[in-house]
Amino acid sequence: PYDGPSAADIARKRAEYLSPSLFHFYSKPLNIVEGKRQYLYDEHGRRYLDAFAGIATVCCGHCHPDVVDAITAQSKRLQHSTVLYLNHAIADFAEALASKLPGDLKVVFFTNSGTEANELAILMARLYTGSHDIISLRNSYHGNAAGTMGATAQKNWKFNVIQSGVHHAVNPDPYRGAFGNDAEKYVRDVQEIIEFGTTGQVAGFISEAIQGVGGIVEVSPGYLPLAYEKVRKAGGLCIADEVQAGFARVGSHFWGFETHGVVPDIVTMAKGIGNGIPLGAVVTTPEIAQVLTRRCYFNTFGGNPLCTAGGLAVLMVLEKEKLQENAFVVGSYLKDRLRGLQEKHENMEVLVGKGGFGYGNVFRMGNVFRITPPLCFTKEDADFFVEVMDIALSKL
Ligand code: PMP
Repeated sequence: PYDGPSAADIARKRAEYLSPSLFHFYSKPLNIVEGKRQYLYDEHGRRYLDAFAGIATVCCGHCHPDVVDAITAQSKRLQHSTVLYLNHAIADFAEALASKLPGDLKVVFFTNSGTEANELAILMARLYTGSHDIISLRNSYHGNAAGTMGATAQKNWKFNVIQSGVHHAVNPDPYRGAFGNDAEKYVRDVQEIIEFGTTGQVAGFISEAIQGVGGIVEVSPGYLPLAYEKVRKAGGLCIADEVQAGFARVGSHFWGFETHGVVPDIVTMAKGIGNGIPLGAVVTTPEIAQVLTRRCYFNTFGGNPLCTAGGLAVLMVLEKEKLQENAFVVGSYLKDRLRGLQEKHENMEVLVGKGGFGYGNVFRMGNVFRITPPLCFTKEDADFFVEVMDIALSKL
């Protein structure tokens, strides 16, 4: 039983000592004291089904025993060393991660977050090409440091930073976008940005395959191959931000970009890669990776033994428990069940998704309900979720 401070005590401390920018969505926020796979427990031992997974992060479930064992064992041996010395944990994980990527994408640089990964990717694209201009999509989210905040294109997440050389292209949103599903029309905007907003040469293009923070917007089918072609013709590199969509979540594939049949030049990842441990990575080709040797580039915690031992365990769990397949099967089932619910509740629409988790089930009448559960979600969990949703929608 939990004998820690009460929810009220924690809320009081939080109000006094933590940044006023922190927000929650509840009049009475939950005090979560424990997590086990897809379930969370409050201080009274009450169980909750987690359908958000810390924003698409806890992919193999909370406190997965294999991940806990890997971190614990590594923690007892060596927690920190920096890449100045050799350690097997970082090398083993880099090798395993590279094996999940197509083509020549095999050189890994570890970071501590998605923001850092995207900052580094943008830097590398600029160094490699000698150009400065970056094209990102409206409604995207790429991070909260200056460069990535510039690339982000949603006003809620932007402060007054200098947006150096960033252009936001019309969002290829098949549902609400100006051109519906017409990928060629959307791509014309990319071409016009290149022609009218730059020297004709760009550093790169960054996009999510499915915009997560933007409300589960899956970019129009056919768009990415065409956009990549235009950008590459203008000398730019194509960066896939897989921070939310990656790591088996889409079910049909391991990475979101694979569902569009493209191979990026740089892939960035975080969230699911560590199942909750602070971990991010940039993966690119040996040739592009060379650009960082021109100066010293260093990250104190990036690739530390603790996080990389945990990351390797996460990859092994995904494989051992066939969680990508589960995301596909249970995600498709959940989507079908939500479609059934849609017939009953007229304000609800179930949209998008390849059958994977979270990336499948939203409704959108000014509001999007994002569902991004741990990939170990079961059919019984999906049934429970839909029943609760039905009751909640009826009350609304
Ligand atoms: N890219 C995407 C697609 C994201 O969703 C996020 C986080 N919401 C980030 C980048 C930034 O990741 P982090 O919060 O780890 O810095």
